Amino acid sequence: MTVQGSWQRAARGALLLAEDGSAVPTIFSEMSQLAAATGAINLGQGFPDYDGPREVLEVAQREIAGGNNQYPPGRGMAVLREAIAAHQKRFYGLDVDAEREVLVTAGATEALSATILALIDEGDEVLTFAPFYDEYGACIAFGRGVHRTVPLIAPEFRPDLDRLRESVTDATRLIILNAPHNPTGAVFDRETLELIVELAIRHDALIVTDEVYEHLMYDGRVHTPIATLPGARERTITISSGGKTFNTTGWKVGWLIAAPAIVDAVLAVKQYLTYVNAGPFQPAIAAGLALPDSVFTGLAADLQAKRDLLVEGLRTAGFGVSVPPAGYFVVADALPLGHPDGATLCRELPQLAGVVGIPITAFCHPEDAPAFRSLVRFAFCKRLDVLEAATERLAALG
Ligand code: PMP
Ligand code: GLN
Repeated sequence: MTVQGSWQRAARGALLLAEDGSAVPTIFSEMSQLAAATGAINLGQGFPDYDGPREVLEVAQREIAGGNNQYPPGRGMAVLREAIAAHQKRFYGLDVDAEREVLVTAGATEALSATILALIDEGDEVLTFAPFYDEYGACIAFGRGVHRTVPLIAPEFRPDLDRLRESVTDATRLIILNAPHNPTGAVFDRETLELIVELAIRHDALIVTDEVYEHLMYDGRVHTPIATLPGARERTITISSGGKTFNTTGWKVGWLIAAPAIVDAVLAVKQYLTYVNAGPFQPAIAAGLALPDSVFTGLAADLQAKRDLLVEGLRTAGFGVSVPPAGYFVVADALPLGHPDGATLCRELPQLAGVVGIPITAFCHPEDAPAFRSLVRFAFCKRLDVLEAATERLAALG
């Protein structure tokens, strides 16, 4: 079993095929398969094991029964584009033109791939933070871009701002941030966001911001989209998805918001990737986005309790744990337990403890990996009884 990110093969030009011609699975598929094969509790791939709001599910059922089963419009159904624009206004005070500034995509995944493929030329530099969500690395490689990284420094997973300053140059085409961040749950402070905007303006780079965890903020925190900062809006592509907010990761309803010319450029690529998707689910996510504030705060409160349970359990088991301010994941340091290598531990964890996690090094280029070597990501978007069982099993590790 490999525990390296499969995007590394794309980066080497190996087109994601193994020696025997089979497709190299992503780290998430690989770990989910490992969990299924061993019967271990899957705290690897980030998907909830429970449903989201009933209202949202019922709209999809009604849409299918009512005949919404053909291609939706290329930019997405108007009802969803309008709901996305209204959501940005309601939560962040942003005015978005639903006609020209919104594009519905096959999950945030396609919003990211179409954006990266549309906006980079061969040799353009793309900056991400490290660790990074694996898709960024694969798509930068598909677009023949040059991937530069700025490491996030544990335990707060904040970048060194001087390193960030040095890493953005006139060769930088895109700066990709993920706020809140997968895998660490980090939320960038205002100073970091301001510096990203300042550097993007100075070097005429575009900002791509992956905000799929925008509503999963804990301890009373409020998400600040980078597009709300002065000077950011016209050069920012904001990406999100209904998957995490409504526990519908299988529906693949995502979107991006950007200036009309950027949306048109991304649409030009997107129309040849999927053309369109998720017809009956689009009005359902639209209904979800219009639900009362209490639904969004309730989601965060529920996940916060799950986070607390897993943090406590991991600490009791002997891991070093910093409490994530947002997102789906806890990063646990296995070094205090005598495991210096998270990748090796994750391979053995189903046998040792009946639990699956993902090594943070799978989200890194090899040169950034040493700083994250003993860290493992565990997902807490699971039922409380599942998290309790997992922490009991992990306690046996000590
Ligand atoms: N970005 C990040 C940071 C993610 O964690 C994920 C996976 N949930 C995605 C993008 C992809 O989102 P979607 O499932 O909507 O394609
Ligand atoms: N975003 C999910 C995670 O980080 C995985 C999605 C996927 O499997 N591509 O676990």
